[in-house]
Amino acid sequence: MNLLEEIKKYLIYFNEIGLEVIPTTNNLIKFLQSENFISENGLDNLKNSILTCEKCPLHRVRKQAIWGEGNINSQLMIISEYPDKDEDFYGRPFVGQIEDLLKRMLQAIKLKKEDFFITHAVKCKTPGGRPPEKEEIEACKSYLLKQIKYIKPKLILALGFTPPKIFLENNPTFSSIRGKVFKIKRNISIIFTYHPNYILKNPAVKRMVWEDLQKFRKLYEELFKTS
Ligand code: SF4
Repeated sequence: MNLLEEIKKYLIYFNEIGLEVIPTTNNLIKFLQSENFISENGLDNLKNSILTCEKCPLHRVRKQAIWGEGNINSQLMIISEYPDKDEDFYGRPFVGQIEDLLKRMLQAIKLKKEDFFITHAVKCKTPGGRPPEKEEIEACKSYLLKQIKYIKPKLILALGFTPPKIFLENNPTFSSIRGKVFKIKRNISIIFTYHPNYILKNPAVKRMVWEDLQKFRKLYEELFKTS
């Protein structure tokens, strides 16, 4: 059932029978005000805010800001770092050999790219592909947090060194947090591992990524009661 379509039909009906005040109840008001009621406009507005954002200097070097890609109804999310020049050019996360590697990583744990909503921690590319500055991460992080709030994933695979800067305090070393399960809300678990880009340049981390992905799979099976 499309909730918005149903509400629209009711409003048209009320209008046709001459009602000027919409009957409501305290429970309905609470529901409409709750986090569970996310209008399609809310997501569209958020997307539009990202695509037109000029909150930090990165808007001057990007070709386009990247909203993300995939299933917004999924309970699985991938958070990448920030767009590289190819992603900036094509306007989507993971293109070329990075996409191929990501697909192989997911295949190894019996999942597909299409099972996830995929987005970046920072939505615009950086000059020369350098890591985003603290102020740029700070300016951009509300977009990612709102995407999480709207999409409500239960399990997140975070790739690379930028996502921990959004979710974890005190700047822990990556080696101390990778492969561990963190809760970013009561119902949202996140596992950090290396980004495919980093794996291509540092093949020695492949084994660690493999271990982290196995943990992700185990948690996935526990959360979704599947195997
Ligand atoms: S990186 Fe984020 S905050 Fe900065 S301009 Fe792009 S969308 Fe806006």
